Amino acid sequence: MKPLFIRSVALALTLTTASTWANAPKQHFQAPGFYRLALGDFEVTALNDGTLDLAPKQLLTNVSQALVSEKLEQAFLDDEYPASVNAYLINTGEKLVLIDTGTGSSGIFSPALGMVISNLKSAGYAPEQVDEIYFTHLHPDHVGGLITDTGMAFPNAIIRADKREIDYWTSDEMASEAFAGHRPFFEFAKTSLASYLENGRVKPFQGETILLPGIKSVPATGHTHGHTTYSITSEDKELLIWGDVTHVGAVQFSHPEVTIVFDTDSTQAAKARESVFAEVAKQHTLVAAAHQPFPGLGFLREAGNGYEFVAFPYGGE
Ligand SMILES: [Zn+2]
Repeated sequence: MKPLFIRSVALALTLTTASTWANAPKQHFQAPGFYRLALGDFEVTALNDGTLDLAPKQLLTNVSQALVSEKLEQAFLDDEYPASVNAYLINTGEKLVLIDTGTGSSGIFSPALGMVISNLKSAGYAPEQVDEIYFTHLHPDHVGGLITDTGMAFPNAIIRADKREIDYWTSDEMASEAFAGHRPFFEFAKTSLASYLENGRVKPFQGETILLPGIKSVPATGHTHGHTTYSITSEDKELLIWGDVTHVGAVQFSHPEVTIVFDTDSTQAAKARESVFAEVAKQHTLVAAAHQPFPGLGFLREAGNGYEFVAFPYGGE
């Protein structure tokens, strides 16, 4: 008897003519964007908000165009490429904590964003289950997911961010003094926070603070005045969720001095980046980066005068 495979092929050939191929349309969409990781007793779920087209030559500062071109080329990236926007969900066993919320349904940067809630649902959770939300900072791609077209996206959550961050982005005076390109961010942050402020759900903290057992805020000021990283520890494992310590990894890992037009204080942002890089490389700390390719998890190691990012192995724990 002929092997089954050969018989199947023979049958298919007799039944098929060129005009009967399926001509299936391309599907374009990806698998749901969540990635699960055990961290000691905690469960961490990376949630993808989608992607945002970044054009580093137009956005990066304190760097030559030639160096940006060279670094993008080395990373096989075009002048404009889709950069991930990532948020992270921590289940401590007692509390469900979301760090950053993505862009929401505003479409402010791109229609290819705003998927945090659908990915959170795909990951097995409901927005109503989120107890606390911690912000790395209040730029639109981090705070926009707080609201939907009908109101609060997370009706039971309390909101925590550094006091300097909340004071700055909700201040009309600061908005009037800000660089014109940053002004729309003030209105966006205020609109996103409004219903939570009205309901007494916003609880600022000041600098380094233990927010829950195993979760600590660690300031990394510069990208914004209250930009904050979060150290998550359980048993002997640690993860540093670092928000926008980097935007363009292809350039900034090897050249941490390179800044971006979105920085409120770019000199300070570069200093913060250098000190975070040095610390996580020395301690071999796992990091979660908002704009590294999803799920944005990896390690840093020294390379030449700078660093390189080593992506966390898929399926690793
Ligand atoms: Zn960002």
